[in-house]
Amino acid sequence: MVSLNNKYYLSVEIGGTNLRYGLVDTSFSLVNFHKIPTIGFSNAEDKIKYLKDLLTPFIDDYGRDNIICITMALASLMDKERTMIYSSPMIRRFENIPLAKLLEESMGLPVILERDVNTLLLYEINKQNRDSSGIVSGVFVGTGLGSAMCINSQIYKGASGAACELGHIPVPGLTQKCNCGKKGCIELLTCGKVLEKLAAEHFKCNVKDIFKLHGKDERLLDTVRYLAIAIATKITILDPNYVILGGGVIEMEDFPLEFLINEIRENLRVPKPRETIEFVIASGDDEAGVIGAAINAKNQLLNKHE
Ligand SMILES: [Zn+2]
Repeated sequence: MVSLNNKYYLSVEIGGTNLRYGLVDTSFSLVNFHKIPTIGFSNAEDKIKYLKDLLTPFIDDYGRDNIICITMALASLMDKERTMIYSSPMIRRFENIPLAKLLEESMGLPVILERDVNTLLLYEINKQNRDSSGIVSGVFVGTGLGSAMCINSQIYKGASGAACELGHIPVPGLTQKCNCGKKGCIELLTCGKVLEKLAAEHFKCNVKDIFKLHGKDERLLDTVRYLAIAIATKITILDPNYVILGGGVIEMEDFPLEFLINEIRENLRVPKPRETIEFVIASGDDEAGVIGAAINAKNQLLNKHE
């Protein structure tokens, strides 16, 4: 039964592999949740029509007046205002599109967009009942090196909207081209894409078994060492209250988490923050991005009314 007193966030997370969506209530509990492959969206000529077909049944079932807004978490580069999608390396023809405006016109509801890593960070702070005052840093290691930060519960976007792109810090001497458009990014030496290549070309194994079968291999450990350097760099600059670590790579079977944390600490100054920095492991919940997008929508709507 749908209570007329209930209001919902209609929440969508579009990742490189999966598209997750559903309704989240105002206490950030999932009312329903769906997960489908992103490929359908990626192949769709008309992205707005695809989203409209996907989301309209919720509006029909729950009533337009009970939907607070449509809120989305995206693995895309966006403007600071979070209205425009500049590029989405993992989704076909999803670039240079004023998504918020087009979707608002099509759906007749407010649309709020945010980078997926930022919504994941908001979700984990909320889920784990952590203090969100000061600086909280999040690192989510998946296909790429996702990075986020909050200052006093507010996502830090930077002057142009492109803050925290940790995967794209430069490595001296590295000339390989990154799909962000520049060369020598640290993401080329670590993360899921590198593991997939190592698994296919070097170890000839399934990538999901790579740490289980080859956990002591130096080439594999080097990918973790580079990850540690990126994370230590971020901690050195920010000195955050704590760091949330998550993402598909961290969750892989036999991922050397202790080795990673030791390597990060070795690259930090003594005695602080090396001895004091706290690492919090993300929940790995499937619905993190969808609920995180609802938390972000609440924050954005509150900011608007302040
Ligand atoms: Zn790059």
